[in-house]
Amino acid sequence: RPVITARGVTRRYGAKTAVAAADLDLHPGRITCLLGPSGCGKSTLLRLMAGLEPVDDGCIEADDAVLSGPGVHVPPEQRGVGLVFQDYALFPHLSVLDNVAFGLKHLPRKERKARALALLEKVRLAARAEAWPHMLSGGEQQRVALARALAREPAAVLLDEPFSGLDSHLKSEVRETLMAALRAAGAAVLVVTHDAEEALLMADDLVLMSEGRILQAGDPGDCYLNP
Ligand code: ADP
Ligand code: ADP
Repeated sequence: RPVITARGVTRRYGAKTAVAAADLDLHPGRITCLLGPSGCGKSTLLRLMAGLEPVDDGCIEADDAVLSGPGVHVPPEQRGVGLVFQDYALFPHLSVLDNVAFGLKHLPRKERKARALALLEKVRLAARAEAWPHMLSGGEQQRVALARALAREPAAVLLDEPFSGLDSHLKSEVRETLMAALRAAGAAVLVVTHDAEEALLMADDLVLMSEGRILQAGDPGDCYLNP
């Protein structure tokens, strides 16, 4: 049973249809990779799933509740999704620990700190808890961003080109760490990428997109990739 489903989702910018009648299912404990060339609409579809933009047509549902649809738009912070983007976007004036603890304001101080530390352990950065973001490498910052995204135990985690800002020698290490933490969290995961090799390394389910449309979705072994 999917955590989030999109049915016939469409998004237009003026005369341009960025996403056309897309269907997408995200399942708990599975990593879905959305693969396609630059400009094909991947980020737009992710932003629609996240609630960062309204849909023009179709609907997005979770547990029988409509998140996006005609006259309905549940804001991102109420969707139970964690977000990770290419540019990390950590708060520069907060320590690594406080960045992760930011979304845990509803918890008592001590508990908040313990939870944030446990999350940093999952991404193997507990030793850098008191550091400032600018002291970390790009790969480390991306791991902090993931810990922050997991803090509120989201049902789904959406990542937009999470490795594209990293040096190639860092990518595989960061990817392994992120995947382990995501698997441990058991969330439904969507990774947007234009890198076929990366998608094949990560995907339980592969979704191919081109010019706003979803061409194929399913087992990576069954998808035909254009070289
Ligand atoms: P991808 O993530 O696959 O690179 P995007 O979803 O970013 O593709 O973009 C899909 C298409 O929609 C592109 O043609 C892009 O220029 C256009 N687009 C994306 N966002 C906007 C926007 N806010 N306003 C106008 N056009 C946009
Ligand atoms: P990506 O390919 O990583 O999605 P883009 O360069 O397509 O990055 O988009 C970066 C940002 O610019 C997005 O927030 C998108 O909404 C916006 N954008 C993309 N294309 C356009 C456009 N043609 N007009 C206005 N905004 C755009």
